[in-house]
Amino acid sequence: MASPITLDEAQAQVLAHARLLSSERVPIAAAAGRVVAEDVRALVDLPPFPSSAMDGFAVRSADLPATSRIAGESAAGSPFEGGLEPGGAVAISTGGVVPDGADAVVPIESVVVRDNSVQIPESAEAGSNVRPRGGDVAAGEVVLSAGTALTPARIAAAAAAGIAWLPCARRPRVAVLATGNELVSPGQSLEPGQIYEANGLMLASALSELGADVLTEPPAADDEAALEQALERGLSADVLVTSGGVSVGEHDLVREVERRLGVEEVFWRVSIKPGKPVSFGVVGDTLVFGLPGNPVSAFVGCELFVKPALRALQGLADPLPRLEPGRLAIGLRRNEERDEFVRARTRIEGDALVLEPLTGQESHMIVRSSVADGLVHVPRGNGELVAGSVVRWLRLGAA
Ligand code: AMP
Ligand code: MG
Repeated sequence: MASPITLDEAQAQVLAHARLLSSERVPIAAAAGRVVAEDVRALVDLPPFPSSAMDGFAVRSADLPATSRIAGESAAGSPFEGGLEPGGAVAISTGGVVPDGADAVVPIESVVVRDNSVQIPESAEAGSNVRPRGGDVAAGEVVLSAGTALTPARIAAAAAAGIAWLPCARRPRVAVLATGNELVSPGQSLEPGQIYEANGLMLASALSELGADVLTEPPAADDEAALEQALERGLSADVLVTSGGVSVGEHDLVREVERRLGVEEVFWRVSIKPGKPVSFGVVGDTLVFGLPGNPVSAFVGCELFVKPALRALQGLADPLPRLEPGRLAIGLRRNEERDEFVRARTRIEGDALVLEPLTGQESHMIVRSSVADGLVHVPRGNGELVAGSVVRWLRLGAA
């Protein structure tokens, strides 16, 4: 039996086989979470005109201090007609067009209005409280770079720059298949020896959050005919992710059936804990992940291999998990053979982010693991990482 490969090698292999998906134009209202496929440029200057940053009066700074005649109003969306004559002032609201001739806005709080005139006791600098045209971005400049994810702020940026449609990588189609004779969906009653199916539901929610179009197959039994049918359907997707049946037991048939269906195995077994028996293969452009059945192993495998693949397929610039520095609350023994991923809770202590490993680190303990908001990387090696050591950790979605 070939020995397991390292985590770095395995992740490099996954990325090497993930080919960028084609792109499509998506209406901006439906583009949240998608990845931009080409640089997107502003259609207009932003702001499109010199606009007021305050409610107040647009003036010529050279006139001040002064008592000025109020020549009219420039409200947001209703500009003042004409230019501002010397000695005049225009009442203006935040976002209103600063009229030609005016070069400053004096806030309403700093003036006294009397009938048709406004008394402005202080001078003002040219440009004060005026947002220059194009000060945020000029027409033709890049608003969103290819390979960035459409966060809410970037959706707002594109909208503000006049963009109605966005070029996005098409959604990866992902088939999810849990395998195991013992699996029953929640809601049904358990017969002796059965357990509730958890991995398929975990994978479907993790991967749809990453922009995938997920099709979940009903759980398949550990028999060749059932697996063959379900796997064959799954292979028509861009990515097939299975759980269970990739270990060394007599009922672990997934890899064998995949091989018969033409899947070329790229690796099987990675020196990590949990999740060592993970497999990865390809057929055509389809990526095929075989995650182990223990729910914590499947979860870790999803974070380390499947999510990076989905990011790479969509063209995200930095597809691998981003490990941040933090301090261990307690000492942890290193594993000589395998990189470990330890579930932890994070907390802030003074200037440090501290990682408190959870009790119950066994790979079937999904309920205990689900409390974690961080996955601590304990690199393989000898000895112990003592309490207070700086380690790298992966942030897990919700707190
Ligand atoms: P396997 O990788 O098939 O040997 O399964 C390892 C362990 O994970 C066994 O205890 C299985 O019952 C359990 N398991 C397998 N698939 C699932 C699943 N979809 N949901 C929850 N537990 C599972
Ligand atoms: Mg099994």
